[in-house]
Amino acid sequence: MNLLMKVFFKVLIAVFILSGFSAFSQTKSQALARINSEGFQHSQVMQLIADLSDVYGPRLTGTDQYFTAAEWAKKTMLGWGVDNVYFENYCDDCMGWEVKSFNVEMVEPAYMKIQAYPYAWTESSKGVQIGDLVWMESHADMEKVKKQWGGKLQGKTILLGPAPKQNMLFEGLSTRFTEDELEEAKKSILPAPGNPLGISSGNTDLVAKKDIVFGSSMRKDDAFYAFLKAEGALSILGTRPLFPGIVHPSGTYSFRESHIKSVPYFAISPESFGKLKRLMDRSIAPKIKFHLDAALYLKPKNNVNIIGEITGSDPQLKEEVVMIGAHFDTWHPASGATDNGAGTGVMMEVMRIIKATGLQPKRTIRIALWGGEEQGFLGSLAYAEKHYGKVGETSRKKELKKISGYINMDNGAGQMRGLYLQGNEAVRPVFEEMLAPYKHLDVNTLTIQNTNWTDHDVFDHYKIPGFQIIQDMLNYQTVTHHTNLDALEYVPERDVMVNATVIAALVYQIAERDALMPREE
Ligand SMILES: [Zn+2]
Repeated sequence: MNLLMKVFFKVLIAVFILSGFSAFSQTKSQALARINSEGFQHSQVMQLIADLSDVYGPRLTGTDQYFTAAEWAKKTMLGWGVDNVYFENYCDDCMGWEVKSFNVEMVEPAYMKIQAYPYAWTESSKGVQIGDLVWMESHADMEKVKKQWGGKLQGKTILLGPAPKQNMLFEGLSTRFTEDELEEAKKSILPAPGNPLGISSGNTDLVAKKDIVFGSSMRKDDAFYAFLKAEGALSILGTRPLFPGIVHPSGTYSFRESHIKSVPYFAISPESFGKLKRLMDRSIAPKIKFHLDAALYLKPKNNVNIIGEITGSDPQLKEEVVMIGAHFDTWHPASGATDNGAGTGVMMEVMRIIKATGLQPKRTIRIALWGGEEQGFLGSLAYAEKHYGKVGETSRKKELKKISGYINMDNGAGQMRGLYLQGNEAVRPVFEEMLAPYKHLDVNTLTIQNTNWTDHDVFDHYKIPGFQIIQDMLNYQTVTHHTNLDALEYVPERDVMVNATVIAALVYQIAERDALMPREE
């Protein structure tokens, strides 16, 4: 071969390689362009979240409302052409509980409307009740409670806990992460502890926190409930000092048929609590008038995860699955727009965007909308144990190997700012590349940090690359999380549009990769 020929071939090869590369990246950028215009210019995410919150919220675990919403979600996804939308039961003895009517008032020494909401799974009152108030500082030590209060609670309402501290609202109620905070997060070299974004980063392992998630810490109030019933107490009023003017009735876990149910138990506002306590400190005895009418029922058919799939287009790779998910259940005192209507709506919108673009990803994309997350990951845990093997045991099912990754959304309605890598260094360059086209949206902070307390913990336990999105906090921890103000008003449209579009782009790219997402050693 003469020199000229050699040069000619070299040039030919170079052109071939270059055109091949550009064809590939062109395909990818074309696909992302389609995802972007569908997600930004034809978005339906706000409508979905409005449906989920205004029409189909709240969705407390076990309720008919939950199941009606599940049927709506199924029908909606089938309408977009999502294949295989189906339900999987996750609990046989989780009970539904719905408020029909309630009221709490102080009627002596003067009238005061008490800002209140009943805790879930507490019993109804026997019609309207009026009784004196007593103050009980703590119920942590039951021996002490029995000694001090035995025989003294008949016909009484209990004001439970210390008076809330004064909160002058000096701090901003709604925040986005600052550049400095995100920079700090990027520099983390260990997954825990001390997440610079202020999110709990401690031990994410399910076995380690089994007791908190489904063990004795959930049952810690049972003896107290039983005692109050036996003593003939009328009701309990409690508060959370954290939220000025806000009622925060989450954290009762009597959801199983066998669990003891409390006498009517109301969360009241810190200000209502403060005034009642101050009156008692002056030896002025408030009289409390209340009623609670709530339906408590067991319908196992309500306890379903909603699963939907876009089947992969590659004959081999379609066996492999990229999963996205969000918990579908909510607490009960408002419509659950930010926890977790926003996460659910965003993940449903991801499925819609992918279908609407007509893209045909190689791997199967599966959405899972979980029930019972608020009661300790009931839905995702039941799913994982059925498909991957029991928590804490070593034997694992074949299906586990086919899951490339899982992305979860459950930190409110704030914009995505990046991803918690859960200690998995191998995914950092992968996500860096996938998020590069979205730098202008400030969604690309990657931190090695853990975050926990939602459904991705379950996937993490099985060493499936499972991730929770970093989201701007907005007013999630200060106003909406599990409160009576969890409403559509606190869902900013642009934030959820960005979330759905960027997650659709991520999921598409994960489904198109040559290999599965790299797992932790
Ligand atoms: Zn949540």
